[in-house]
Amino acid sequence: MSMLRIAIQTKGRLNEQSVALLQDAGVSVDDSKRKFLSASKTFPVELLYLRDDDIPQAVSMGAADAGIVGYNEVLERGFDVDIADKLGFGACRISLAIPKDEQYDGPQYFNGKRIATSYPAILKDWLKKNNVDAQIHTIAGSVEIAPAAGMADAIFDIVSSGGTLVSNGLKEVEKVVFSEAVLITNKALSEDKKEILDKLVFRFNAVRDSKGLKYLMMNIPNGKIEDALKIVPAMKSPTILPLAETGWSSLHTVVAEEVLWEKIEALKEVGATGILVTSVEKLVL
Ligand code: ATP
Ligand code: MG
Repeated sequence: MSMLRIAIQTKGRLNEQSVALLQDAGVSVDDSKRKFLSASKTFPVELLYLRDDDIPQAVSMGAADAGIVGYNEVLERGFDVDIADKLGFGACRISLAIPKDEQYDGPQYFNGKRIATSYPAILKDWLKKNNVDAQIHTIAGSVEIAPAAGMADAIFDIVSSGGTLVSNGLKEVEKVVFSEAVLITNKALSEDKKEILDKLVFRFNAVRDSKGLKYLMMNIPNGKIEDALKIVPAMKSPTILPLAETGWSSLHTVVAEEVLWEKIEALKEVGATGILVTSVEKLVL
C-alpha cells in the first residue's frame, strides 16, 4: 500500500504546529525517537524532517510528495509545486523597512539604495514591478541589524508583530507579501497518493473549521425556544430534545468562542438554565 511522504520542518517556528495539525487530523507519529524519516502508525503517511529552505525543492523533485512550509519560502525558491491547502498558522509578511526618521514617499525612495534581505528573488520582482533601481544584498541571518551596522540603507524581511523592527529603529513602509504555512504537493502524484492527500486535506479542514467553536447545551422552557434561537441561530436546523419534565426541552447548538459570554447572558435572560459549554474538536460541514 502506498504512503504519502510529507516533509515538515525539523525544528523552528513551524515544527510544533505542523505536528499538532497532523495529530489533530489523526496522523500520529512517534516524535520521541525522531529519525529523519518516520512512518505514522495511524494513517498512510510518513514524515520527512528537513530545513524549511529545502522543502519546496524536495517536493518539486518528488523526494517528498507533500510539504508543510511558509508560503514565503515557496515563493522565494520558485520551484513548481501545487498549493493544496492554506493551513492558517505561521502568519507573517515580508516587508520593506527603513530607518524610522527617514521620510518615505513611495517606492521611488529605494532608487540607488542598498537593501539587505534573505528573500532576493521576491525583492527583485517587486523592484522590477515598481521600476526601482536598487542594490540587493543577500544576507542569511539577522537582516534587521544591517542598517545600523552600515551594511544597508533598508531591509526587506519577515515581519509578524513588528517588534523587531521597532527595537532596531526601523519602520515598515511596504508590505509586499502576506504569508502563512501552506501544504504543497508534487505535480505528478499517483492516484493512490492523491487519494490519501484528499483525505488529509478533508481532515485538515474539519480541524480548522472547529477552531474557536463551542458546543452549547441548555434547558429551555418550550415557550422560549423561539427566543433562544434568535440568539443562537443553528448551522442547519437546531437540535431540540424533549426533557422528562413536561414543558421543557434541551437545546444544543454551536457558537463562536468570541461571542460565547454575551450569548450565555442573553440565553439566561430568556430563561435558559443548566447551560453547559464543551469544546468542539472536529467539524465536518
Ligand atoms: P530552518 O532551520 O528550518 O531553516 P528558519 O530559521 O529558516 O528554519 P524559522 O525562523 O523557523 O525558519 O521560520 C519558519 C517560517 O515561519 C518562516 O519561513 C515563516 O513562514 C514563518 N514565520 C512566521 N512568523 C515569523 C517570524 N516572526 N519570523 C520568522 N518567520 C516567521
Ligand atoms: Mg530556513
